[in-house]
Amino acid sequence: MTEEAELAVGADAFTQRGADLEVAVVGAGAIGATAAYDLAREGVDVTLYDRGSIASGSSGRAAGVCYDAFADSLDAEIGSDAIERFRSLSGDDTFPFVECPYVWLAREGDERNVEALREQVTRMQQNGTIALEVDGDELAERFRALRTDDVAVAGIAGAAGYTDPARYTACLAAAAEGAGATLRPETPVRVRTDPARVVLDADGSVHEVDAVLVAAGAHTKRVLAEAGIPIALKPYRVQALVATYDLAEPMCYDATAGFYLRPHPDGLLAGNGTEYVEADPNAYDRDASPGFAADLLERVDYRLSGVDIDPERDLERAWAGLCTATPDRDPLVGRLESELYVATGFQGHGFMRAPALAERVADEILGGDGIDPFDPARFDGDEEFDIVEGMTIETANE
Ligand SMILES: Cc1cc2nc3c(=O)[nH]c(=O)nc-3n(C[C@H](O)[C@H](O)[C@H](O)COP(=O)(O)OP(=O)(O)OC[C@H]3O[C@@H](n4cnc5c(N)ncnc54)[C@H](O)[C@@H]3O)c2cc1C
Repeated sequence: MTEEAELAVGADAFTQRGADLEVAVVGAGAIGATAAYDLAREGVDVTLYDRGSIASGSSGRAAGVCYDAFADSLDAEIGSDAIERFRSLSGDDTFPFVECPYVWLAREGDERNVEALREQVTRMQQNGTIALEVDGDELAERFRALRTDDVAVAGIAGAAGYTDPARYTACLAAAAEGAGATLRPETPVRVRTDPARVVLDADGSVHEVDAVLVAAGAHTKRVLAEAGIPIALKPYRVQALVATYDLAEPMCYDATAGFYLRPHPDGLLAGNGTEYVEADPNAYDRDASPGFAADLLERVDYRLSGVDIDPERDLERAWAGLCTATPDRDPLVGRLESELYVATGFQGHGFMRAPALAERVADEILGGDGIDPFDPARFDGDEEFDIVEGMTIETANE
């Protein structure tokens, strides 16, 4: 049975690995909704809480770019598993997943990125991840939409596509409910440990459970701090826009200019605008900064071949949202202490990995192994570190 069929049959498809287990999931973003679905399918009594509506955090503001183009073999495996799951869950009645090649490129003269990109593609090939290394001329032959005369080297990843992150999250939350989970939107909670429990902000009522998964995105640090548990996490602001210029393919990351773009039903979606300061998730500016759209569209205009994008005419909308950084740029996923689990710190790559990472953390709650390199207890929580852009060309050795 495909996963799409499982989504449709809901409770009939249960195995009962989690029978008698009660779990609270804090945060109905892509991670929390997927984990709630995976836990409910195993017979767990799950409640999925969100302080706002479903996908009201970063998952509702994400670009929806998905790929497995990672140099590190674990990252590539997770990226690849996630793509497979997007493919199998997507459909007319669930959410769209549009297969689309992902190109990442470095320009002549940008030696650091040129070298890093070559190394990354080699590592990917050694790991068995499908990736091609091409020069500017080869890129031009494959993708007429891109300007390529300044390109020194580019990678092309086969396993890639895009989706609507809000629709994915809403679908998984609905599927979780179909599998027996209880959805509690508009319900901010606090977390307490020993025993594991959630306390509802509204009336102070206490719900004791066997385990709590905190998947509260940029709020995770605050939620855990209120429980007396520090974690090494910093939220930071990024921005994106939609413009009405039509683009069919590819998705592209220009490493030298530091921005990405992808096709969008309204034209194209582009993003960058990372701010290297810690943001307050309760008070950050959700609107794009003045000048952001004009500056980014100038770079988009340069990268696309034979176009004339006019921000006044072509800008549809622009916005800001939050990503989360960790000291080593790897996420914090798994058991933090006693029956408290966490999943956050995705450096701008949380949506594309949600189907696989949420599945793994759900499995860990049910007694499976955690992911050692992502063990959230590897930090004390008081580490000093700088926020680093998540979307850089990264080699496995960094
Ligand atoms: C502009 C932009 C573009 C991006 N593009 C991409 C992309 O193309 N690909 C990609 O992989 N990633 C992208 N990201 C990153 C991606 O959005 C995140 O990594 C991912 O959505 C994180 O999902 P999450 O479920 O962990 O968190 P969230 O989606 O933030 O969900 C956390 C939820 O917890 C809730 N919550 C918080 N506190 C409480 C509380 N006390 N009680 C109850 N609920 C609470 C919040 O309301 C929220 O809904 C982008 C981010 C932004 C901002």
